[in-house]
Amino acid sequence: MNTASQAEHRNLIGGEWTAGIDIAENRNPANTDEVVGLYARGSKAQAAEAIAAARHSFPGWAASGPQARHDLLKTVSDRILERRKELGELLAREEGKTIAESIGEVTRAGQIFDFFAGECLRQTGDILDSVRPGVEVFIQREPVGVIGIITPWNFPIAIPAWKVAPALAYGNCVVLKPADLVPGSAWALAEIIKDAGAPAGVFNLVMGRGSEVGDELVNNPGIDAISFTGSVQTGARIGAACMQHGKKVQLEMGGKNPLVVLDDADLGTAVECAVNGAFYSTGQRCTASSRLIVEMGIHGRFVDALGERTKSLVVGDPLDSETQIGPVVDQRQLDSNLEYVQVGKDEGAELVCGGDRLERNRPGYFMQPALFAGTSNTMRINREEIFGPVATVIEVGDYDEALSVANDTEFGLSAGICTTDLGRATHFRRNAQAGMVMVNLPTAGVDYHVPFGGRKGSSYGPREQGSYAREFFTTVKTTYVKG
Ligand code: NAP
Repeated sequence: MNTASQAEHRNLIGGEWTAGIDIAENRNPANTDEVVGLYARGSKAQAAEAIAAARHSFPGWAASGPQARHDLLKTVSDRILERRKELGELLAREEGKTIAESIGEVTRAGQIFDFFAGECLRQTGDILDSVRPGVEVFIQREPVGVIGIITPWNFPIAIPAWKVAPALAYGNCVVLKPADLVPGSAWALAEIIKDAGAPAGVFNLVMGRGSEVGDELVNNPGIDAISFTGSVQTGARIGAACMQHGKKVQLEMGGKNPLVVLDDADLGTAVECAVNGAFYSTGQRCTASSRLIVEMGIHGRFVDALGERTKSLVVGDPLDSETQIGPVVDQRQLDSNLEYVQVGKDEGAELVCGGDRLERNRPGYFMQPALFAGTSNTMRINREEIFGPVATVIEVGDYDEALSVANDTEFGLSAGICTTDLGRATHFRRNAQAGMVMVNLPTAGVDYHVPFGGRKGSSYGPREQGSYAREFFTTVKTTYVKG
């Protein structure tokens, strides 16, 4: 324990660092003896205060103009990028991603702020002639108001960044509630935004529990819109509440993403796509390739090669540069992963490798990546999102069956195919029921300047990221003018 010297990281409400009603210990999943920091837990009342502060600041920020907003976002970007190593280390220590992945995520957050700094200056609108002579029509975008942002634990800085940056860029004020499990990166982002000169109340951070702080954001009438990323269960509840209150809502939820491997695929490419998509970031990505749908001609070779590759993955301390797979984020997620491994065995799937808890020289939530073969798409391990380093192989007879199995899921976030046949790749691209399709690439790993989101049970509402983010974070006004 090293709590003695640590001060509480407070909530940012109306420009002031404010103590919570409770203090949470942020612990390192790779070494549970280590307290990464102490973080405030806010109450419903504090969330309400932050919402009131944001409402108060909204008219000024909405009228601040594109230059001021650009300058703030650009400064935030520069400061994140300057501190990427330090912030990457913090992220690795609180969430468990490898240091390379963590620095990559921080870099992504900086790039996102840079992109949206540019978006401030790339406003678009339309001026048209009315169907009535002498009348002109102006179509312009305006900010929505105060946005409540609720984020999950698996991307502690990138997801807050890809919601906060467009919200501010388009003139909205924000109350951010990060996941209670990983408040450190969000707190560092809040500090950077405040120090970069955000006017008081424009950006607020209220850490704490979803049932307290999150619930207040969803139900308080001072919030105009909720942007949420997390599980299907929480998303469904938040969506229903927002509908009832007439709030705009954007939900990014789970996935059960297929990666199809056809007989004509390059075996090396297919195996690397599968390893990366299924196991990197400890499998804790909504875009993870959890179902590997493999044509019968390549099936044996693919399973053998992937099994060997999976066994060779180095699981360990995220700060060690040799480590390829960090720990699972917490005990609850580890228990759930191990339970799914047992479910797979009970369902009759063949465990090719992995699936055990691992001991390292410090207490942590380490797990050996698990690969199942001989599975069918009706098994629970192929229907439910596991959200850990567990992948399954489903053997299919031909491409048509592969496509049908790929689409046979309640989710629709990302879908991939490995093939050297352009015709099949094109057919898959056009017929995969997913928001994002990858050809000869892992299902996870996306760009920041293009839309992100899914279909079916994975997403609800307009897309995130790139210029498509404008759809959610602005509202359209049509003005008729007679001279
Ligand atoms: P979660 O349990 O649904 O939590 C997400 C956020 O919602 C957390 O901040 C949580 O607070 C908050 N919350 C919980 N109950 C709430 C309530 N009643 N009202 C308002 N807020 C509430 O999800 P998670 O376990 O953090 O994240 C894993 C899930 O996120 C996976 O399903 C994954 O697929 C999904 N995900 C999706 C995407 C995507 O873009 N599609 C990206 C990343 C992750 P606490 O901190 O108190 O839990």
